[in-house]
Amino acid sequence: MTMIVRNLQQVRDRITTACMAAGRKPDDVHLLAVSKTFGADAVIEAMSDGQRAFGENYIAEGVEKILALRAFQSAQPAQPGVPPAALEWHCIGPVQSNKTRLVAEHFDWVQSVDRLKIAQRLSEQRPPHLPPLQICLQVNIDGGANKSGVAPGELQALAGEVAHLPNLVLRGIMAIPEPAIDFVAACALHARTRAVFDQLNASGVLPLRLDTLSMGMTADLEAAIHSGSTMVRVGTAIFGGR
Ligand SMILES: *Cc1c(COP(=O)(O)O)cnc(C)c1O
Repeated sequence: MTMIVRNLQQVRDRITTACMAAGRKPDDVHLLAVSKTFGADAVIEAMSDGQRAFGENYIAEGVEKILALRAFQSAQPAQPGVPPAALEWHCIGPVQSNKTRLVAEHFDWVQSVDRLKIAQRLSEQRPPHLPPLQICLQVNIDGGANKSGVAPGELQALAGEVAHLPNLVLRGIMAIPEPAIDFVAACALHARTRAVFDQLNASGVLPLRLDTLSMGMTADLEAAIHSGSTMVRVGTAIFGGR
């Protein structure tokens, strides 16, 4: 068993334990393996153990890996009746206007949308032969001045507009709070994101119910799951330090 496979299994155990502690079903929390800075070989190892969803922060690096994995998969001998694993690629880093086309053409999800202009470009540039791009709005939950993310007070207006763009499906929100000193403090921060998520769903401005609350990383996934996360984004605990 490789280190990555062993780590993945430990992370799955952490998720299961946290779900049980919170009285939730382990299936309700999806694991996004954040492979940024690691090579295609690391993704292949994780894929060999059944991991399908991968997160990338840097667009050029992510696209390179997406293409490398596609080449790897098409070079594998076809097994009758067994389609190649369908990987799901999530863009979780800042997206500048001049990168929207690359993102729209290669990724399946974008979790870091925080401006209407970027969402509009992603919708316009999504190739017609691909399914709609799945979107989370990034929320700046703790007001970090230099951080990306829409302010909670502006979230509802942005969500209302993004939800109606034709080639996107608004799935939820994503937050990256500052590191907290302990479990209780981390839960308090995540609870704020949860409240914003619930308010948005209750607001009546959206055509579809949001089902994705993306919060929790290596250090705080237990607190995030306690607070209602449906997707944890884990890099270090799977692939090692960067
Ligand atoms: C790097 C990154 C992660 C993973 O962080 P780890 O602490 O390594 O688990 C999750 N989300 C985002 C947005 C990131 O940039």
